[in-house]
Amino acid sequence: MEDIRFPPGTLPPEAETLRQEVRAFISEHLSDYPAEKRARSWSGNDPAFSRLMGAKGWIGMTWPRQYGGGEKSALERYVVLEEMLAAGAPVAAHWVADRQSGPLLLNFGTEEQRQRFLPPITRGESCFCIGMSEPNSGSDLASIRTRGEHTSEDWVINGSKIWTSKAHMADFMIALIRTQPQDSTNRHAGMSQFLIDMKTPGITVRPIQNMAGESMFNEVFFDDVVVPDENLVGTEGGGWGQVTTELAFERSGPERYLSSYRLLYELVDELAENPTERSAIGVGRMVAHLGTLRQMSLSIATMLEAGENPNLAAALVKELGVDFEQSIPGRAHDLMGRAPLMGGSDLDQVMAYITQASRSFSLRGGTREIMRGIIARGLGLR
Ligand SMILES: Cc1cc2nc3c(=O)[nH]c(=O)nc-3n(C[C@H](O)[C@H](O)[C@H](O)COP(=O)(O)OP(=O)(O)OC[C@H]3O[C@@H](n4cnc5c(N)ncnc54)[C@H](O)[C@@H]3O)c2cc1C
Repeated sequence: MEDIRFPPGTLPPEAETLRQEVRAFISEHLSDYPAEKRARSWSGNDPAFSRLMGAKGWIGMTWPRQYGGGEKSALERYVVLEEMLAAGAPVAAHWVADRQSGPLLLNFGTEEQRQRFLPPITRGESCFCIGMSEPNSGSDLASIRTRGEHTSEDWVINGSKIWTSKAHMADFMIALIRTQPQDSTNRHAGMSQFLIDMKTPGITVRPIQNMAGESMFNEVFFDDVVVPDENLVGTEGGGWGQVTTELAFERSGPERYLSSYRLLYELVDELAENPTERSAIGVGRMVAHLGTLRQMSLSIATMLEAGENPNLAAALVKELGVDFEQSIPGRAHDLMGRAPLMGGSDLDQVMAYITQASRSFSLRGGTREIMRGIIARGLGLR
C-alpha cells in the first residue's frame, strides 16, 4: 500500500510577490477579454498571449536556463498557473508543451532534442499535442495499433490517433507508437515515443465537433509518415514507462479543479446583488470545497518541489477536483433557480458553456473509473 498524505503546503514570499506581478499582467492584457471566452479556461487559445507569457519567463519556468527556462521553483510556477486559470486566460497554445512535452524531453530526450525543442517552447512559439488515444484504445492504452517500422535510416508510421486536442494547430505531436509486435506475455512492451512534425507529408488532421459546438480535438491519420531516427524520444520499446511518467505530469496540476472556476465567479457576482441565506450557504459550501482542494493541490506542489513523487495523492486530487468541477453547473442551477438563457448575461453564457463542456472533464486525462482504479490499487484495495 502506497503512503498517502497531504502535508500542509505554503507558498514562499517570492511566490506571493510574483502573484501581484501576474495579476498586473493579466489586467493589462486581458481587461477586455469576455467572460464567455474566459469560461474556456485552459482550452482558450491565443498564440500572441502565449508569446507574451514566454517573454515574461512564465513558460518552462522551472527548466534549466540553458534550455530557455527560468530555474524557478514549482511553487512559483503554481502561482502563475493558478492566477492564469482563475482569470480564464487563453493558455492553450503552450499548455501541453509547458506541462508535459517539455518535462518529458527533459527526462528522456537527447541533448540535441532538448536544445532544439525546449527554447521555442519557453518563448511561447511552439505548440505540442499528445498522440496517445486511438479508436478502441483509450483507457486500455497498451492496445494501441499505430505502428512504426524501421527502414535503414528512418521510421515509417501508419495508423491513426483520436481525440487529439489541438492537433489542428500544433507544430509537433509526441506520439506513442507500436514499434514491436504485441507481446502476449508483456502487454506494456514494444511501444516507443516519437516527436512528429505535424507538417510532415502523409498526416491528415480531421476535426471532431464536441457537444458545445467547438472543434478542439481531432482525428489524426498517418499514411507512410517518415520520421527521422533522431526524433525517437527515449528508448525504443520503452515508451510505456515514459508515458506513465508523462501522465503523472498531466494529472497533478491545479487545472484539475479550476476548469469551472469562471462559473463560480460569475455566480457569486450575480448572487451578491441580492444575497439570501440560502445563496450564502450554497456559495459558502462551494468556496469551502474549493479552498480544501486548493490546499491539497498545493500540498502536492510542495511535495514535487521537495523531489517527492506523490502519484497516489495526485490521482486522488484529480478525481476529487473533477468531481467538484462537474458539480458546479448543477449547484449553480439550483441557486439560480433556472436554466441559462440563450444570449443572456455573462453568467448565462458561462453557465451554458460549462454545463456542456464539463461532461468531458471526467474523461480527459484518464476517466473517472480508471482514476478510481489507480487510487484503489494504491490503497491496496485491488
Ligand atoms: C476533452 C478531451 C480531450 C482529450 N484530449 C486527448 C489528447 O489530447 N490526446 C489523447 O491521446 N487523448 C485525448 N483524449 C482521450 C481520452 O484520454 C480518452 O477519451 C480516455 O482515456 C477514455 O478512452 P476512450 O474514449 O477510448 O473510452 P473507453 O476507454 O472506451 O472507456 C469507455 C467507458 O468505459 C470505462 N472503462 C474503460 N475501461 C475500464 C475499466 N478497466 N474499468 C472500469 N471502467 C472502464 C471508462 O471509464 C469509460 O467510462 C481526450 C478526451 C477528451 C474528452
